Formats: sequence, structure tokens, C-alpha cells
Amino acid sequence: MQEFNFFLPTKVYFGKGTLKKVGEETAKLGGKAMVVTGRTSARKTGILQRVESSLKKEKIKTILFEQVEPNPSFETAKRGAEVSKREKVEVIVALGGGSPLDAAKAIAVLSTNSSPLEQYIGQDKVKKPLLPLIAIPTTAGTGSEVTKYIVLTDKKRIPPHKEVIGDAHLFPKIAILDPELTLSLPPSITADTGVDALSHAIEGFSSNRAQPLADLLALKSINLIFRYLPEAINNPYNLEARSSLLYASFLAGIVIAQTGAIIVHAMGYRLTSEFGIPHGRANGILLPWVYEFNLSANYSKFALLTRELGEKTENLSEKEEAQRGVFLLKSFLQRVNMPRNLKEKNIKKDKIEEFAKEVMQNKRKLEVNPRKVILEDIIEIYEKALSGKE
Ligand code: NAD
Repeated sequence: MQEFNFFLPTKVYFGKGTLKKVGEETAKLGGKAMVVTGRTSARKTGILQRVESSLKKEKIKTILFEQVEPNPSFETAKRGAEVSKREKVEVIVALGGGSPLDAAKAIAVLSTNSSPLEQYIGQDKVKKPLLPLIAIPTTAGTGSEVTKYIVLTDKKRIPPHKEVIGDAHLFPKIAILDPELTLSLPPSITADTGVDALSHAIEGFSSNRAQPLADLLALKSINLIFRYLPEAINNPYNLEARSSLLYASFLAGIVIAQTGAIIVHAMGYRLTSEFGIPHGRANGILLPWVYEFNLSANYSKFALLTRELGEKTENLSEKEEAQRGVFLLKSFLQRVNMPRNLKEKNIKKDKIEEFAKEVMQNKRKLEVNPRKVILEDIIEIYEKALSGKE
């Protein structure tokens, strides 16, 4: 059997009602907490008030930082860290989607490590352990509660750029996954975030750094998303569907923490930073085309995925089985309302070339992509995905 490493230092609570653990768990880590969240949804849904009351019950002094925007900037994280240092915060409670979770991780980094934050862009550059962090996701998508990544946007650059910090210090101490918190997600965010998780699972499964344990989690995650994402979009209050999706995004987060993401993510970043396409939707637009491109790298592995989706493939060769997976993926993405193209953005050829050149700089994601890619391949994949033409 293949040799592999697996690392997940996060303690996990999963299940309906586990949010109430936050006070008790925070108290074990310190007496003063900063809750980092977004500008609207946590308060509007009443989740923030539930966190505050759980912390109050344990007599924890609480500071609120409710300023995280979608695709958070380095500046937001820096502002948060100024507050955390000034107030001598001992624990960070990260509450929200991937954006607040990532901003909170960055605040926790800067609270114990020197500035500027930008010096940590890349891999394994964070020197000291962060402030202890409890991550409470309210979307079922990024898996950031169990990953070692932070994604921040450099908004000073024109156009803005997404940057990734990857370091084993960034795994949260504790993750609290309470599916009830995701019941209020509207259909479009449910779809976009669910497809982000699907992309993580498929990218991790395809990656050159794939490994047996991560593959097992990826297949389970893909299976659950195919089964429950359409249901959660149509029946948002179906707790079984919500639980399955939160579990699936958590599994997919564990997967990418081991394997990294491949070129889907590298290609999607500019669609978000420049054209405002939500992160998961950007991945959803690119995913089937990258999937199709990568098939020839490992027909038997992609054939396995087709079979895992319950497809009857008795009379097909392995190659045909693998190709069938592309059809299944495309049909699924249409069912969950992913756009078939981005024609309305009218993205010009020179822009595509600029994006593609940038992707070619992302050595880490190129290295783990199962099929070798050259500039022309990236351009072709963008052209197909943006036009929707085969
Ligand atoms: P998000 O955090 O930006 O949230 C999207 C929207 O959902 C926001 O408007 C928010 O207010 C709303 N929302 C969140 N929870 C809600 C709820 N329960 N009810 C109603 N509305 C709710 O979106 P996201 O997709 O979770 O995160 C995207 C960010 O995560 C991007 O910056 C992406 O690059 C990053 N990311 C990080 C990792 C990682 O490992 N760190 C992995 C993938 C993506």
C-alpha cells in the first residue's frame, strides 16, 4: 500500500446543538475572547447572540469584531489584530462562512507573530503558534475549520489578488460543527458553498498528493454532496440534508488539508477577485472542464469515482467509465444551478491570457495537478468554461 502522512490536530464537535459547547470550550483556553464574524448574517440569524450568551454563562469577557467582508482583505485582518492585541485577547472565536473563519485565523496569527501579515504568504512561514482558535462554520463549503489555510485578498493591487497562507499552525484548536447554523443559508449560497466542498473533494481525489485515507473521505464527501445538495437547495430546513452537507464539507476540508487543491482553485481566484463570482461558483464553472482535462492522467481512478456515484457501467471500458463521470458531473452542476458559462461577463481573450499566465506562476497547484499543464492548456480550459462550448 502507498505510504502516506495524515495530520489533523483539531478537536471536533459535530451535531445539532453542539454550538452550546462554545462557552465551556473557550473557558478552557482563556478568560477573554474575541468573536470574529461577518457584518450581517451571524447577528441577523441570532447565532451571534447564542454564542455571546454561551460565553457569558462561563463569565468570559467578550470583544466583538463584526467587520469581516466576503473574500476578506489583509487590512481587515490587520484591524482585527490591532484590537486583539490592544485588548489582550486570549482566545479567538471564529464564527461564519470561510471569510470570517479565514480572517479570524489571520488575526490569531498576527496576535502572536510579527507584522506584516504578507510575509506569511506561501507555505510554512508562520513562526509561532497562534492564539487558540475555535472555528464555528455557518456555511457548508470551505472546510476552513479543519484546514491549514487562510485565503485573503490583496485589495491594494489592481485588480485585487487572492493570496494563500498555508501552515500547520493554522489548524484551529477546536471546530464546532452544528448543522442547525446552516438552516438559514439561502439557496444560492447553499449551492455555491456546496459546490466549493465538492470541488475540494474532487480536487483532493485527483491530486498527485492523493492518499488512501484522504481518498476515502473524498469519495464519501462527493457521494453526500450529490445526494443532499439538491435537497438542501429545494428544502432549506431539511436538517438531515444540512447535516450531511456540513459533514461533507468538513470531510472535504480534511482532504485538501492533506492533499492541497489543484488547478481549479488556481484558475478560480481571478474570476472572484476581478468579476465578483462567488468562490464556490467560480470553482463550479471550471470544475468539469478541469476534470475532463485530467481524465487521461488516471482513467482507472476516475472510473472508480463514476462507479462510486452509483452509475451502472458494466459494458464500458475504464476510459468510457471515466468519461461518463464528466457527464454526471456536468448534469449535477446544472441541477444545482451552476452557470453553464460566463458569457455575460464578456471576458476578452487578452484577459484570459493574463489569467492563464498567472496560473502558470502557481507552481504548488500545478505540481499537484495529475496531468502536466502548459499555458495553452489553461487558456483552452478557460475558453471552454467561459463559453460553455465543448
Ligand atoms: P462567505 O464566508 O464569504 O459567506 C458568504 C455569504 O454567506 C455572506 O454574505 C454571509 O453573510 C452569508 N452567510 C454565512 N453564513 C450564513 C448563514 N448561516 N445564513 C445566512 N447567510 C449566511 O462564504 P464562504 O463560501 O463560506 O467562504 C468563502 C471564502 O473562504 C473565500 O474567501 C475563499 O477563498 C475562502 N476559502 C478558504 C478555505 C480555507 O481552507 N481556508 C477553503 C476554501 C475557501
